[in-house]
Amino acid sequence: MAKKNRKYIFVVGGVMSGVGKGVASSSIGTVLVGKGFKVTALKIDPYINVDAGTMNPTEHGEVFVLRDGYETDQDMGNYERFLNETLEGVNYMTTGSVYLEVIRKERNLEYKGKNVEVVPDIPKEVIRRIERSAQSADADITIVEIGGTIGEYQNVIFLEAGRMMKSKYPGDVAFVMVSYLPIPSKVGEMKTKPTQYASRSLNSVGVQADIIIARSDVALDKKRKEKIATFCNVKSDHVISAPDVESIYDVPLNFERDELGEILCDVLGTKPKKGKAEMAAWRSFVKRSKNTKGEVKIAVVGKYFNSGDFVLSDVYISVLEAIKFSAYKYGVKPVIDYVSSVDFENKDKESALKRFDDYDGILVPGGFGTTGIEGKIEVIKYAREHNIPYFGICYGMQLAVIEYARNKARISGATTSEVDPNAENLIIDILPEQKEKLAKKEYGGTMRLGEYPCVLKKGTIARSAYKGETVIERHRHRYEVNPEYVEVLEKAGLVFSGTSPNGRLCEIAELPRSVHPFFVGVQFHPEFTARPLSPHPLFSEFVKSSINRRNSK
Ligand code: GLN
Repeated sequence: MAKKNRKYIFVVGGVMSGVGKGVASSSIGTVLVGKGFKVTALKIDPYINVDAGTMNPTEHGEVFVLRDGYETDQDMGNYERFLNETLEGVNYMTTGSVYLEVIRKERNLEYKGKNVEVVPDIPKEVIRRIERSAQSADADITIVEIGGTIGEYQNVIFLEAGRMMKSKYPGDVAFVMVSYLPIPSKVGEMKTKPTQYASRSLNSVGVQADIIIARSDVALDKKRKEKIATFCNVKSDHVISAPDVESIYDVPLNFERDELGEILCDVLGTKPKKGKAEMAAWRSFVKRSKNTKGEVKIAVVGKYFNSGDFVLSDVYISVLEAIKFSAYKYGVKPVIDYVSSVDFENKDKESALKRFDDYDGILVPGGFGTTGIEGKIEVIKYAREHNIPYFGICYGMQLAVIEYARNKARISGATTSEVDPNAENLIIDILPEQKEKLAKKEYGGTMRLGEYPCVLKKGTIARSAYKGETVIERHRHRYEVNPEYVEVLEKAGLVFSGTSPNGRLCEIAELPRSVHPFFVGVQFHPEFTARPLSPHPLFSEFVKSSINRRNSK
């Protein structure tokens, strides 16, 4: 029995995916935090991959790295931003990670010779993990989002875990189904039938939704609320209308207006710790985001932009959100364009590069492999030579160092061993411990991952932005600036303004303000810690320099 009467909310998807189950789960969190509860959130991804680290971002979107280095789904980023909490690996699980653990225990005879079965042993392990994450955060309420859609073969085992938890803790578990109500263009009317089917599918695995969040293009009318109530066995005021919104950050305010927090408390037999949800800070953030004056135009230059129908903005979602938070901080509207770096690798690159004159800032985010690398280096050179604020993240930092080595330190053929391991001048080289791992083909979870400290040099942009001497940031990389080249690069004018405490690893490279308004590259991922209520200082500095460029045009 849990020490305190912890509560659990399972969020499941009906009808189809991609309708904002993650944002709904996160927003439920924001509302409950506002009600004074200690809330944590857990994501379950029903695939065999043990974590999200080995997945191609064009298939799965961004890999969000947690403080402890766990490589997870982008929804975890939304949880951290909406809950304003730092989560850990215990807040994430996949089918693969659950099976791996059950099989490990079986091999260790931890089941004491018993027959180990999919049911109940897999759901039991799922429940153990949910309880563990609740305990580790000492949460009053734990939100558990089950990835995928009801009726899919692969998430049935997790619904079974939810069902078992409900009988283990009667009265302490709620089910929220996020459904979708289509309006077929030929019919012109909102249809509830798919939601009814989804509700029945859920019933067929022994689960009854307590609340239905009805996503649609427009708000639900009373008639449809009642229809859903009748056919899906929920109270009509437990059917929450969730029409499309201008910004995902509106969703918690809409939920609060519709008293979703009170309804959940009611279902879970608990009382808000504060009266009206105290969402003043959130409200003022949303207000600021809507009352902007002027714009700042940022180009995000990457390689993942031309891949069929995939929603590519997802690949860099934390980067985009981080830019937005800083732009709102200064009261301007962010206009963010994705630019594919391969466009700058052909004969006409000179004229193609001119398009950047229109931008106030250029950002090259993290990446892997060889595609589009030369194009990115051309873009970085253009930013440096034309005084356009430049912010390079991870690969974007490594490539900035390579560009500087080639064009300012005159090191011919400067490159990274990721592109050409046999090149003479490997400005960026593999971390020694990584060499062994790659030789053994150990790819999963083996990069330099998670939080590491970084010491900042006095009198630099980094130090003044952070207003501190040591910072801790999250990492995800295999390669690093080769220490052998640091001296010659410094002589050529590049400043390594952040290093690991022993001074060996370069964490930040920048140009002095006297030379360039903002040319900064970071080996870590500041986007993972940018929050709506606390924008990241380096993003803010970048955006501020970009606004200055715009104003001085
Ligand atoms: N590919 C580079 C490395 O592994 C950069 C990684 C990244 O940008 N996340 O070091």
